[in-house]
Amino acid sequence: MNLLTVENLEAGYDSRPVVSNLNLTLEGGEFLSVCGPNGSGKSTLVKAIQGLVPFIKGKILIDGQNLFQMKAAQIATKLAYVPQVFEPVFDFTVEETVAMARYHRQANRFSHLSDLDKQAVEEAMGIVLVYKLKHKKLNELSGGERQRVLIARALAQDTPILLLDEPSSHLDLNFQLQIYQLLKRLQEEKGKAILVAEHNLNLVIPYSSRLIFLKDGRVEAEGKPASLLTEELIKRIFQVDVELRENRSTRLPEISLIHTDTKKELQEKESLSKR
Ligand code: ADP
Repeated sequence: MNLLTVENLEAGYDSRPVVSNLNLTLEGGEFLSVCGPNGSGKSTLVKAIQGLVPFIKGKILIDGQNLFQMKAAQIATKLAYVPQVFEPVFDFTVEETVAMARYHRQANRFSHLSDLDKQAVEEAMGIVLVYKLKHKKLNELSGGERQRVLIARALAQDTPILLLDEPSSHLDLNFQLQIYQLLKRLQEEKGKAILVAEHNLNLVIPYSSRLIFLKDGRVEAEGKPASLLTEELIKRIFQVDVELRENRSTRLPEISLIHTDTKKELQEKESLSKR
């Protein structure tokens, strides 16, 4: 059964929708990447799936339940959200941040953490390799470490679905790779269904079971990376000429930018206009 079903979604910040006519499904254990240019509606979609935008119409079913009839604590048992890493963080330690996931699940915020809760927090910190940092404050960490802590928090929430908004932004190449390898491990070993909004296509191609391309708030294309990607599609979505090559390690397509000599082009245009 689909863990997440979105039908005819219209969502935005006032009565003018940012995403419209949007349909998508996420199956258990699937890794779905929502791609598209800046401003195409990726973040808005990820927020709408949690009921976090002011204007939403359509149908969102989470594990068969209507999102609009679910309480926040119920939603928190089904999906965990990893925000963009540069969103402001408070002065909490790593351990306190990860533990928030457990309070989040409880109807009564003032309940104490049980042994099971504490175990879940320790396990999550262990899996994403931030255990040694547990007494450090979040603002003392590098971007990559902080992103891992946010993933640990989502993991401690113990939900079947993880939603992530641009998990690679502001991270260097090594950390980008580490984060996606970690997500893949969570998908394969923990059976998590993962939905990421990501503009870095080359990064998501090897990890995604399926890609969805948004353009102007609508689904423009959808499919498995190996069969979906073409130079024409990338041109249509991103308005840029690219060359698709085969990545040597994955044998999957990889996007190579074509760098034209702009100075030469301008000179040629100028000389043509003088004739
Ligand atoms: P993406 O994640 O693909 O870059 P977004 O969903 O962030 O796209 O943005 C899509 C559109 O929604 C943009 O035109 C943006 O200006 C608008 N938008 C995003 N957040 C807000 C907001 N909080 N209030 C009003 N408009 C917003």
